[in-house]
Amino acid sequence: CGIVGYIGNNDSKEILLRGLEKLEYRGYDSAGIAVANSEGVHVFKEKGRIADLRKAVNGDVFASTGIGHTRWATHGEPSRENSHPHQSQSGRLTLVHNGVIENYDLLKREYLHDVPFKSETDTEVIVQLVELFMNEGKDVEEAFRKTLSLLHGSYALALIDHQDPDTIYVAKNKSPLLVGLGENFNVVASDAMAMLQVTREYVELMDKEMVIVTKEKVTIKNLDGETVERQSYTAELDA
Ligand code: GLU
Repeated sequence: CGIVGYIGNNDSKEILLRGLEKLEYRGYDSAGIAVANSEGVHVFKEKGRIADLRKAVNGDVFASTGIGHTRWATHGEPSRENSHPHQSQSGRLTLVHNGVIENYDLLKREYLHDVPFKSETDTEVIVQLVELFMNEGKDVEEAFRKTLSLLHGSYALALIDHQDPDTIYVAKNKSPLLVGLGENFNVVASDAMAMLQVTREYVELMDKEMVIVTKEKVTIKNLDGETVERQSYTAELDA
């Protein structure tokens, strides 16, 4: 299973699909991408191979922000409904997740009893929580941080907000995730292999940090909202 993301000036679909193909070796049962532009977000997902996802992706949509996912089902059978990306109730937020949220049932009962769920995944709790906290008046960044502080378990996450398609929000805990740096673009990937086609320059993320990624900038923060500085490194790998 794995995660990719792209934000820049080019169309994201092919970059995401190629990135997911490079992550196929990790194993998966379903795959999906969400791409966003000023008109909205488009989600494409399928049970099965990335080749099947490719056929489902509408080539006409130009969108220079996107996130992608290969799923290894842990909660909920492999199916289109349980495939990622998952969306919040209003459709405003879209999320991909690798890992397992151990306290998802507790969080669901405590905070989300009124929310109708569209999947059987532990993942959907995360995106519904972020929206709940936004409905209480927080901005995406604060709502995402508050959600992270409640999660127990492992996660690599990438989140987009349709009302601001110029940002990808990222976080990890006990699951791998890197940010790759480019000229007028940045990427997200479970491992550097996935994005060697576009960059060799990476920034490592630590557990329980959140990262705000735009095409020009990568800002790492801890859960208190304080900015953390980190040097990038060059991946010495064969593509
Ligand atoms: N636990 C999540 C699910 O079952 C994510 C699985 C994964 O890591 O791909 O959908």
